[in-house]
Amino acid sequence: MRATLAAKQSEVPHDRNAMLELIARAITDKAAADQPAMKPVINATGVVLHTNLGRAILAEAAIEALELAARSTVNLDFDLARGTRGERDDLVEPELLELTGAEAATVVNNNAAAVLIALNTLAEGREVIVSRGELIEIGGAFRIPDVMAKSGARLHEVGTTNRTHREDYARAIGPDTALVLKVHPSNYRIVGFTSEVALDELVALGRERGVPVLEDLGSGALIDLTGYGLPREPIVAERVATGADLVTFSGDKLLGGPQAGLIVGRRELVDRIRTNPLKRALRCDKLTLAALSATLRVYLRSGEPAAELPTLRIFNRSVGEIRQAAGRARDILAERLGPEFTLEVVESEAEIGSGAMPVEKLESAALRITHPEKSPETIAAMFRRARIIGRITNDAFHLDMRTVEDPAALAVSFDDGANERRHQGDQK
Ligand SMILES: *Cc1c(COP(=O)(O)O)cnc(C)c1O
Repeated sequence: MRATLAAKQSEVPHDRNAMLELIARAITDKAAADQPAMKPVINATGVVLHTNLGRAILAEAAIEALELAARSTVNLDFDLARGTRGERDDLVEPELLELTGAEAATVVNNNAAAVLIALNTLAEGREVIVSRGELIEIGGAFRIPDVMAKSGARLHEVGTTNRTHREDYARAIGPDTALVLKVHPSNYRIVGFTSEVALDELVALGRERGVPVLEDLGSGALIDLTGYGLPREPIVAERVATGADLVTFSGDKLLGGPQAGLIVGRRELVDRIRTNPLKRALRCDKLTLAALSATLRVYLRSGEPAAELPTLRIFNRSVGEIRQAAGRARDILAERLGPEFTLEVVESEAEIGSGAMPVEKLESAALRITHPEKSPETIAAMFRRARIIGRITNDAFHLDMRTVEDPAALAVSFDDGANERRHQGDQK
């Protein structure tokens, strides 16, 4: 400390203005250092479940539940009736069983962890059969072959990239086969001359040969979302009913809850996963379980979950409503940006995001913002300083309004950002 002060002293400028400038900067730096690194941002990217922006926004009920849990000690691993050690999965298992029709359920930190622990429990040192058309990579380094290697299971690839048949699986099953894995190709599509083996066929084959079938479903819709303007996506309960022995899916994708990995299926297999020592390393904390439980309860008690779950509500917004929001955003921002900028409401295409349904787009509206001298990147950086994250499409900066439910929030963010820019002398 003494050494730093000494060094700083040698840098002290002699003229008064420079000195004041230095003090002002020190104060701003101090204020910036006092701010938490995680800040609210406005997601105007048009990607509803944006992995880099924290995916799903929680329902009010989930926020309340997690606040309660944060403020208090809770019966996390504690059986209130018997006063003995309990099992935290019990806090969400009944809801998961009711919603999916499965015999048992367990929860870990995220779906990547769910796949890892399922493979490790059921197939360590043995073979897992996967179609070459399903050896996927999800953003952020989740790759089926790599997760498989880390789990200690051996990957046995069958078929080809575009076509895999029942016979390919049938031939591959041997004494060393522990599992057949089916992976929902969340973030890409194989089109053209293609063929995959449907889950019911794999289940029939697995039963015939005594090999369980695990399906990594990815986004995991709990209800039919076609009523919310979304394309048809497999529903967890259907996959369980079709006979998958285990199904894994994420808590913070289409489900609209906190980050979590859900594993549902046959009791005997789920029990084995629960007693794997990895479960201790991958388990969720009380905050996640509180939010997850409340989210699942929304599905169970609400006739209209989209009214409560922001993710579904955002999918459900009409283009007319979004266009109106874009109009309001234009008025709000035109006033703040001044006449040099051109702001136009344009048609746009939003996405579901986080790897779910990559091809299907959601009709949307955006605000296109241009300036005769500023590049789209410069405009994007300016908005980022106001914590508004847009996107650059066709060489122009856009704010997609599907994901901005309240245009007035843009004004607040922009004004806060402007204050900060003033303090920082627009140096960045
Ligand atoms: C998203 C996804 C994962 C990873 O899930 P996280 O919850 O992000 O860990 C794994 N498999 C599939 C098929 C996915 O879509």
